[in-house]
Amino acid sequence: MALIELDNVGLTYPSAKLPAVHDVSFQVDKGQVLALLGPSGSGKTTLLRLIAGFETPETGRIVLQGVEVGRPGYRLPPEKRGVGMVFQDYALFPHLTVAQNVAFGLRACGAGERKRRAADVLGLVGLSGYERCYPHQISGGQQQRVALARALAPNPVVVLLDEPFSSLDPDMRSRMRHEVHQILKSVGATAVLVTHDHEEAFAMADQVAVLNAGRLEQVASPETVYHTPSTPFVADFVGQADFLPGTVTAQGLIETEIGTFPNEAGHQEGAALIVMIRPDDIHLVPDAAGPAHIVSRQFRGSENLYVIALPSGRRLHSSGHSVSVYPPGTRVQIGLTATHTVLYENLNLPMIEWRDPQRDPPARA
Ligand code: ADP
Ligand code: MG
Repeated sequence: MALIELDNVGLTYPSAKLPAVHDVSFQVDKGQVLALLGPSGSGKTTLLRLIAGFETPETGRIVLQGVEVGRPGYRLPPEKRGVGMVFQDYALFPHLTVAQNVAFGLRACGAGERKRRAADVLGLVGLSGYERCYPHQISGGQQQRVALARALAPNPVVVLLDEPFSSLDPDMRSRMRHEVHQILKSVGATAVLVTHDHEEAFAMADQVAVLNAGRLEQVASPETVYHTPSTPFVADFVGQADFLPGTVTAQGLIETEIGTFPNEAGHQEGAALIVMIRPDDIHLVPDAAGPAHIVSRQFRGSENLYVIALPSGRRLHSSGHSVSVYPPGTRVQIGLTATHTVLYENLNLPMIEWRDPQRDPPARA
């Protein structure tokens, strides 16, 4: 059974012309983590506030544990919803100790029970022994864990996390991702995580919901979102994506400048389509007679990301292991090992520009 259910939820702020959230539907099953992924301003925080009970939907409905908690004109207040929240800046009380911060959400319990429960969740997040510290005496990662412990202490139905790692440095961020994921799973929490970082969403979520300007473009597993993104926006937002024009041939293949792709969806002969390609699908074979050449190389530790110029002048990305390094100017053959063929029919999207943002100046207005 879905523990969180949103049906066609929409909200426009009084001062705004466009909806912050439009017609959003998704479900989260018990014990699952859903990531709301999207750029700044796409409506992630608004959705979280709707689930938490700080906003009332203008359209649609929100159901938690089978109970309708929000619909136009009705909002069950946050304190009655059983939600635990973790914010970007942790929002710890600086004048309270770690233990007091965690016990804060347990005001309804007796003193003994509060102490016991606070100790339990602090153990869970690996902070036993820090009870008497004040927030300024512990690291950012530890503060983050206190915030999580505080959210988990009352045993919430749902845990909501709004960009919880954005104040941490990159090293700490990836460690905390892992730790918080483990903790959420170990307590069987049902959670919604807001992030603009696709790697964070992939690492932590069972389902990823991609938002663009208040609209949901896809809800699916991380693998599905990456390999078969349902729109060019999703393709581009969750990783490096290139888009190449192709035409359906008489043989029922899709022909592009770099080779043919299967026409699995059965598009008609002559149809003009766009093929989405990921850098890991493109392999380079140095060959003095090759039709393409390397424009640039970006070293990324475990791999190199190459920008390739095709005979048409179009640019394409290719990633390869760091062992073989080819300098710019190297002529190459292009090998294709696409495991998924992703096709789009609509070219009229502003993000599909035949330029390389790392090299070329921004497109003219
Ligand atoms: P995100 O969390 O993805 O960055 P938000 O949900 O905060 O996005 O915002 C979605 C849209 O709603 C943005 O255009 C933002 O400017 C607008 N918005 C957010 N909060 C308010 C508010 N209180 N009043 C008016 N507009 C708002
Ligand atoms: Mg936000």
